[in-house]
Amino acid sequence: MNEKQTEELSSLLKMRGDIEVDSPESADIIILNTCSVRRRAEVRIEGRIGEFKRLKEKNNPIIVVAGCYAQAHREKILERFPYVDKVVGPFDFMNIPELLNDSGKLYTDEKRTDWKIILPERAKVSSFVRIMEGCNNFCSYCIVPYVRGRERSKPSSMVIEEVAGLVERGAKEVVLLGQNVNSYGKDIPGEVSFAQLLYKLNDVEGLERIRFTTSHPKDMSDELIEAMAELPKVCEHLHLPVQGGNDRILKLMNRGYTKAQYRALVDKIRDKIPGIALTTDIIVGYPTETEEEFQELLEFIREIRFDQVYSAIFSRRPMAKASELPDLPYEIKQKRYEIFNQVQNEISREINEKLIGTIQDVLIEEVKTKFPDQSKGRTRTNKVVVVEKKIPPGEIIMVKIMDATEYTLKGEIL
Ligand code: SAM
Ligand code: SF4
Repeated sequence: MNEKQTEELSSLLKMRGDIEVDSPESADIIILNTCSVRRRAEVRIEGRIGEFKRLKEKNNPIIVVAGCYAQAHREKILERFPYVDKVVGPFDFMNIPELLNDSGKLYTDEKRTDWKIILPERAKVSSFVRIMEGCNNFCSYCIVPYVRGRERSKPSSMVIEEVAGLVERGAKEVVLLGQNVNSYGKDIPGEVSFAQLLYKLNDVEGLERIRFTTSHPKDMSDELIEAMAELPKVCEHLHLPVQGGNDRILKLMNRGYTKAQYRALVDKIRDKIPGIALTTDIIVGYPTETEEEFQELLEFIREIRFDQVYSAIFSRRPMAKASELPDLPYEIKQKRYEIFNQVQNEISREINEKLIGTIQDVLIEEVKTKFPDQSKGRTRTNKVVVVEKKIPPGEIIMVKIMDATEYTLKGEIL
């Protein structure tokens, strides 16, 4: 989401005549787009802002701290880093070009999103499209609803126009982005559902592939599963964050489903869409998680066998409800995290090794800059494939898989 917003802001600034430079040292304006999902991200940002003090004294660039960290810490940033010129929350992020000419310092009021279609000069082969902002779910550990506000959907007519514009500029694939795409449109009277939006996008000429993230399991409708099964452009991959592997923890997390309900949903999806790759997010070391509950989580991932898991150690977020619970000692969280990843990496590797010898359609996304004789692309199931040849990005080629690790496949062009 941040990557896409940064790209859009960059296009807006270029329209105003600004040019991108390679290093902060040669910049007149420095904009930091920040994350606050975990404390670790915030520590890194604080380090970066600290580094800019010397630059401010030397070159006096305009320094803007924007995004979720800015929203979460507002005045504190101006107090701790008085040389920061502007603090801009996610609601005003796209207004930064105008705010640069304004004398104010703090722009963190919540407001409705004025959606704009911002197209780059040349689109990436696989382009992100923001279809909604914010979240209504209030999972107990998560800061997102507090910093990005409630759900706001981009009208479907704009989404379709944007996708068509990206395809005209070279995109072959779009990745639709939202914190919970399954509830797309519910905030706009008469708007289409997410599944209906997929049907409309499937008709965009020249578009080859459609992906989306993230889907909340509690809102995963039969209509959406049907659309995924039926629509040729919608890829056979679903990111379905489960977050926990124990009913007590899932309840504490306020996720709105049990382990049995999640398992039944996975069975239904695998039944309707054979060969689908499933990925997930999991938080390890949740407050009060016992050793037995951690073992149950391991058992659960061994049972479901996700293609890949994005795991994170629980991080205390002051605004979120879970911060009221006692945190586990860091060493315990770290140890469980290591064990968790060992178990999952082995599963991911086994799943990928089974693909050796199969033939896959690979959409080439880039020629690797470090290895110009190699190209990198993805299968429909979102697996990264490297081939030993320079292929123009945007081409879909048939590849025989020759080797596999937990993260990547190696292929030979047929
Ligand atoms: N909306 C998505 C969903 O429902 O899964 C994810 C959004 S969140 C920005 C991305 C991931 O960060 C979450 O899936 C979760 O696993 C992780 N995350 C969020 N808050 C966290 C916290 N306090 N500590 C550790 N991981 C966290
Ligand atoms: Fe955070 Fe939960 Fe919303 Fe995802 S669904 S953004 S984890 S509150």
